[in-house]
Amino acid sequence: MGLMECNYLVWSPFNGLGNRMMTIASAFVYALLTNRVLLLHITEDMLDLFCEPFPDSTWVLPSDFPVKDLEKLNLGSEQTYGNYLKNKKIKTDVKVMAESLPPYVYLHLEHDYQHLDRLFFCDNDQQVLAKVNWLLIKSDIYFVPGLFFLSLFEDELKWMFPERETVFHHLSRYLFHPTNSVWGMITRYYISYMAKADEKMGIQIRTFSWMPISIENFANQILACSWQENLLPSINQNMTQAGTNGGRTKAVLVTSLNSEYCEKMKSMYYEHTTSTGEIISFSQPSHEETQHTEKQTHNQKALAEMFLLSYCDVLVTSGWSTFGYVAQGIASLKPWILLSPKDQKAPNPPCRRAMSMEPCFHAPPSYDCKANKNVDFGAILRHVKHCEDVGNGIKLYD
Ligand code: GDP
Repeated sequence: MGLMECNYLVWSPFNGLGNRMMTIASAFVYALLTNRVLLLHITEDMLDLFCEPFPDSTWVLPSDFPVKDLEKLNLGSEQTYGNYLKNKKIKTDVKVMAESLPPYVYLHLEHDYQHLDRLFFCDNDQQVLAKVNWLLIKSDIYFVPGLFFLSLFEDELKWMFPERETVFHHLSRYLFHPTNSVWGMITRYYISYMAKADEKMGIQIRTFSWMPISIENFANQILACSWQENLLPSINQNMTQAGTNGGRTKAVLVTSLNSEYCEKMKSMYYEHTTSTGEIISFSQPSHEETQHTEKQTHNQKALAEMFLLSYCDVLVTSGWSTFGYVAQGIASLKPWILLSPKDQKAPNPPCRRAMSMEPCFHAPPSYDCKANKNVDFGAILRHVKHCEDVGNGIKLYD
């Protein structure tokens, strides 16, 4: 293996499609910075989603790749960088000879990663990793902001991304091209429900079991945000007949696993006039009910909906959701982010305007390798701040 001329980074899927797109983009940047060829382990649920981004080549990992069960590599696997350090199979010595290193190292960058795996974000550790031919990576977080803390990558990142807040925007448009099947869904829906409207608004609704809120409370939070920020006209509770303001129309695209939100808002605007006389229509492409299904179209629908959201003029997204991050990134929009519930109730304010269109890095490191102490990564660099939706998270902005 030492004789091979290329170094490789092999990506494996973990978690939902939004998470996967976050990590493909992050892995791509890391591969560029470290002169590696990026290969993707495409599982069955990802077939017929993306076109190859680079003409006359493939980024798909060949099926005869000798390391099997890539998805099973985990925090406890002996091949994680952290466990190699712990078991003294690798020493953080920048002079280490490539021959003394294992043929491959697994980078475990999932949200549950621990101190030793987080040393990935240290210069010395990167100098050691640079000598490993094959790096395997599994992650569910957008870790690009973390790469900005390495002096090794500083100059190159400056050249690549003079505007920090467009990093994911460029990456997503460069890498993610829906296949014809997905593009068919996008165009059919767009022409039927969105194209003719004067204005288009997207509402991306996502709740998480670990931050519960009732449908009614969340629907009220969405309306409170939309009214307060003048994204939707308020309704006239007592008036059901009025002028139509020259028939100005606004199409609201709702995406959610659940159909109740859209139905509620649709009835409300069907039964009442609006304060501006605008005609508001609501539509929702699908309601898959659960996050995981074996149906091949499940991820295709999710991807189509991310793209449809990206064609809106304004976006309201749900905090913590990578699904929303993808949509805002492709769109190059700063969304209004619905903040997480407190004690199952909507917070006040209900939403905040994002300071940048960049996704949030949910689980950044806290260890400053040079200073050898824990620090606040949201307060070190001029272009990195804490996220609006995830207190400990960090994001790039200009
Ligand atoms: P996150 O969990 O919100 O960060 O986003 P992910 O995309 O990583 O995972 C959520 C998964 O649930 C998606 O990939 C879809 O499979 C499904 N899902 C969640 N919300 C929607 C939605 O609005 N529409 C569709 N079609 N699927 C959704």
